[in-house]
Amino acid sequence: MKKSVILGAFLTIVMAVSVAGLATADSCDAASSASSLASVKKVPILVYHHIRATKSYPISTWSYKMSVSPDVFSKQLTWIKDRGYTTINLDTYVAIMRGEIEGPAKPIVITFDDNNATQYSLAFPELKKNNQIGVFYLVTNRLQNKGFIPEVQVKEMSDAGMDIQSHTIDHATMTNLSLKRLDQELLESKAALEAVTGKPVRHIAYPSTASNKTVRERAAKAGYVTGSIMDPRWATQKDDFFKLPRIMMIDTTNLAKVLP
Ligand SMILES: [Zn+2]
Repeated sequence: MKKSVILGAFLTIVMAVSVAGLATADSCDAASSASSLASVKKVPILVYHHIRATKSYPISTWSYKMSVSPDVFSKQLTWIKDRGYTTINLDTYVAIMRGEIEGPAKPIVITFDDNNATQYSLAFPELKKNNQIGVFYLVTNRLQNKGFIPEVQVKEMSDAGMDIQSHTIDHATMTNLSLKRLDQELLESKAALEAVTGKPVRHIAYPSTASNKTVRERAAKAGYVTGSIMDPRWATQKDDFFKLPRIMMIDTTNLAKVLP
């Protein structure tokens, strides 16, 4: 009970900062990003949670605020395509930021957290329709659970070019864990997803965006190359790969400011 209250308060602060950031005129650094893409490498990384469809959440809840309607989602993907952005996976992101490859003119990473079933039923078809790819950070103990994406669909998404990465075993707040448990979350979720997709898992999104030096060091030791948080601005080459900022997408996200 106490834990969930603290987590709730923490999330409230994180979300308030995220949403407030998107609402201000210059917080996203978006305009300068667009004009200097060729010389300075800056890439927007978006994060979606629920695509709400069949289940409606009370408008005051974070489940509602952290979701987009299918219609808005479709419009946002169309905007991204029409503005000339090319979706990339995280290995490509790393190669671009390391200067190993040039990459497309306007790269973008679209991520999804938490395995919600609508990411398969609603997001995946829209992505395919637009010839776009998404990165899906999955919680591995949800793979058998109702309301989440089952293994067979995870495999189908991976085979279709979607990027399947880790969001831990059970969505634990990693900064609260013993070293033994932390390593377990990192290694076992990685192995479980690799067994499903047959592809390497090298990227993690920290649940509730919580990491510290120990978490980041153990993640690197476990074989991860990046770790993602939430922070409403574009990622740049100066960013620590283990603190990649992601912009939370909601119904009211101002696309002209965030993705010019
Ligand atoms: Zn999550």
